[in-house]
Amino acid sequence: MIDLKDFEYKELEDHLIGLGEKKFRAAQIYKWLHMGVESYDEMTDISKQLREKLKEESYVSTLAVEEKYVSAIDGTVKYLFRLPDGNCIESVVMRYHHGLTICISSQIGCRMGCRFCASTIGGLQRSLTAGEILNQVIFAEKDMGERISNIVLMGIGEPLDNYENVLKFIRNVSHEKGKNIGLRHITLSTCGVVPGIYRLAREQLPITLTISLHAPNNEIRDTLMPVNHKYRIEELLSACDEYVKATGRRLSFEYSLIHGVNDSLENAAELASIVRPLHAHVNLIPVNKIKERDFRKGSKNEINAFLARLTALGVNATIRRELGSDISASCGQLRKKKIDSQTREDQSADTHV
Ligand code: SAH
Repeated sequence: MIDLKDFEYKELEDHLIGLGEKKFRAAQIYKWLHMGVESYDEMTDISKQLREKLKEESYVSTLAVEEKYVSAIDGTVKYLFRLPDGNCIESVVMRYHHGLTICISSQIGCRMGCRFCASTIGGLQRSLTAGEILNQVIFAEKDMGERISNIVLMGIGEPLDNYENVLKFIRNVSHEKGKNIGLRHITLSTCGVVPGIYRLAREQLPITLTISLHAPNNEIRDTLMPVNHKYRIEELLSACDEYVKATGRRLSFEYSLIHGVNDSLENAAELASIVRPLHAHVNLIPVNKIKERDFRKGSKNEINAFLARLTALGVNATIRRELGSDISASCGQLRKKKIDSQTREDQSADTHV
């Protein structure tokens, strides 16, 4: 069975023509699907005959809200969605002055192995389809009852490790006949999959690219991010340079501050020297504690001193505001909790037998 939300607009048109239908049906069906109908019967301007035909060959994919948390501190909403195959994914909706931003997942688990990240514990289950990525936006927007204006691909998974589906999703969610979210309002975050960055540069899309750098040199980056063994910092920076030249877009770097690992003032100076030529913005994220790892953040003073050093060296940098800290809103934490609790249930069930 196919999920029509995996099709781009043009593909849907061709598909319908293949079924003997008129081209304009694509606009109607695309609109309904992207509005979040849960069955073909809700498509009231489509004939019963066509609805039956569609049911025979395809299905309307949906997401079930398994758990939902609303932060008492800042209203951040975190969803744990359950997919039809039983897997869970997370999405977070944050409220900023310019509207709602959703942080979505691109894979179930992740194979990149970053040492500080909860999403990677347990490895990669599978990549999400284009429709499954889109459904997070559709169902969160429906649930919030309010338009989502910005998307960040910073949830579970490495978007450039699921390149085709992520690009399909980006083209669909920005399509004028669908959610019509501007490409400039979409941010893709990568741990540094270099070939993917070159490929993305060639797409010439005005999305925002952000690179999870987290270290100012190969020595430190090797200890934190296995991807660095494959693509060294120099290669990564060349790819970034090419991206900026090809697209005319600035990019930004994410840098998780981990106490005693990458947060000294020398580290700040080294970081400044590598990002300055790219005129890139640096987003500092005091590392979130996860229970499997012993990384911790420095004091407020230390974090501010790091920022001050970067700024003094001419780097445009900010500290990421922490949202939803009372609801485990950082990527991978909820899914991990769910898996842990299910494993515990299974184990106790075993002991009863
Ligand atoms: N795979 C992509 C996107 C997902 S992670 C990437 O690596 O960019 C989104 C961001 O959160 C990344 O910068 C990631 O390195 C960071 N991150 C993951 N775990 C973290 C933690 N415990 N503390 C702070 N930042 C973390």
